[in-house]
Amino acid sequence: MKVARTVPELREALAQAHGAGKRIGLVPTMGALHEGHLSLLRAARETCDTVVVSIFVNPAQFGRGEDLEHYPRDEAGDLAVAEGASVDVVYAPSVDEMYPAGFDTWIDPGKIGTYLEGAARPGHFRGVATVCMKLFEQVGPQVAFFGRKDAQQVAVVRQVVADLDLPVEIVACPTIRDPDGLALSSRNVFLSERERVTARALLRALEAGLRAGRSGDDAVRAARSVLDLEPGLRVDYVAEADLDGRTLAVAVLVGSTRLIDNVRLVEE
Ligand code: AMP
Repeated sequence: MKVARTVPELREALAQAHGAGKRIGLVPTMGALHEGHLSLLRAARETCDTVVVSIFVNPAQFGRGEDLEHYPRDEAGDLAVAEGASVDVVYAPSVDEMYPAGFDTWIDPGKIGTYLEGAARPGHFRGVATVCMKLFEQVGPQVAFFGRKDAQQVAVVRQVVADLDLPVEIVACPTIRDPDGLALSSRNVFLSERERVTARALLRALEAGLRAGRSGDDAVRAARSVLDLEPGLRVDYVAEADLDGRTLAVAVLVGSTRLIDNVRLVEE
């Protein structure tokens, strides 16, 4: 497994694969790798000749007052996970490598980036779209893997890829959950034991929404009524939107930790 920290190192690590016309798969991450990330790495390993995982906590997608400084980081652990998943290249650039002094070009998604997470976190999807565009240019993958856990992110990336004619296929993988139903997230480490129990209400709410939706009732109202019964939690939004398909999405605050989750309201 090669570890590249600069664009020239990355290009060198991938030169042979590009030259030989290998199918290169990219899994963009912010590290603190867990089973959710691993599922993307496995999907990449199964379908690609060369697997690249990027590990970069992207400051551009964090707003002021968000948890950039405290975001979990564990590079040694991540390298071991990547090695165990038979990754070929880990790309772990510094902030200066990605955004050198004078950096001044941004990809700003339109409407798809303005509501739900886009409304709650102004500028978030501009940061996401810009870093994905840079990663696609740097790695040159035929295919990139994203998790449905971040459904709006998938929709934003698909929009950017379509609008800018990028030659990369976007694959969306299912959400991986802990046995208690909580969607895996690097931020779950911030939850106390009691908060974890509270956070289980997210999946219960989504399931109630799904049932209501299937029987022709109001999915949003059904989900919201479950969350409203949960004292330790503050609802940011419960909404239905077309995010890479009809989706019921929720965002809540449990203590000071913001959690998002979603289910698709249409059968695959
Ligand atoms: P992150 O490191 O949180 O930016 O996530 C990197 C990628 O992993 C994104 O495409 C996420 O959607 C995906 N991901 C994160 N958590 C999960 C999960 N529980 N199940 C599936 N994919 C996930």
